[in-house]
Amino acid sequence: MKLKVNQDVCIGCGACAAICPEVFDIDDAGLAVTIVDEIDEKMKEDALDAMEGCPTGAIVEDNEEAAEDDMDLAAEDDMDLAA
Ligand code: SF4
Repeated sequence: MKLKVNQDVCIGCGACAAICPEVFDIDDAGLAVTIVDEIDEKMKEDALDAMEGCPTGAIVEDNEEAAEDDMDLAAEDDMDLAA
């Protein structure tokens, strides 16, 4: 499993890094980043807790299918805004 942080949505609260420091850290800009590429079974539970605990939903699964879904949703949002 891979996770990534959408820094456009992250507010830098630090909750993810507190819950799961093996996977998340806060960068120089004060926003969360993932510090491992692949999340193994040992880290998975804490990583998912951090994902669910994120107040802005900034942590998302990083795979091509999810990325395409996100883009579709973003495109739909744009259309809603334009309408
Ligand atoms: S919990 Fe969410 S909003 Fe807070 S630092 Fe982590 S990714 Fe950003």
